[in-house]
Amino acid sequence: MMKIGVLSLQGAVSEHMHGIEQAGAQAVEIKRVEQLQEIEGIIIPGGESTTIGHLMRLYGFVEALRDFSAQGKPVFGTCAGLIVIAGEIEGQEQKHLQLMDIIVRRNAFGRQVDSFEVDLTFKGIDQSVKGVFIRAPLISSVGPDVEVLAIHHEQIVAARQGHLLVTSFHPELTDDFQLHNYFVKMVEEMRGKSIQHHV
Ligand code: GLN
Repeated sequence: MMKIGVLSLQGAVSEHMHGIEQAGAQAVEIKRVEQLQEIEGIIIPGGESTTIGHLMRLYGFVEALRDFSAQGKPVFGTCAGLIVIAGEIEGQEQKHLQLMDIIVRRNAFGRQVDSFEVDLTFKGIDQSVKGVFIRAPLISSVGPDVEVLAIHHEQIVAARQGHLLVTSFHPELTDDFQLHNYFVKMVEEMRGKSIQHHV
């Protein structure tokens, strides 16, 4: 069975584990860089991007995840995970993995009390997708290789660049697992295409 990891340093981990299993793959909690060798794709969950970034640096995940992505292995960032993957963060010097050609704006939809759930039209998925926004970021700008997948209130809230997928919202906090299905399919598609590093 295909193994997909969830980066388990901080944030909404168990819900993503459940989503991956609902989508028919095996979920692995990733706490050490060595474990990246066991998996074919990874989800970086929501939480607090500064904390996740700090822990990633502490445990050697920055280099390790850049290498993972450079092999063409899919990475899916939700909410704080999106911020961690972004090339640039508005008004902030500190960047994290810088995998994707997007600029993000943190806490763009209001504070925690303003959390909300919406049905979104998502490119490539027939039915609407449920998304929970919690102090969510938005994508303020995308590069030429980035495909916009969902818009909410005229703001970009989901995008894809090849093997990289991001959503501003939490797809794992609902009973709608369409995005986990979408990501599992992406991992299947990329499987044959992964660039093997020969030493
Ligand atoms: N506001 C958080 C941040 O900037 C993200 C919130 C979330 O992941 N739900 O890191």
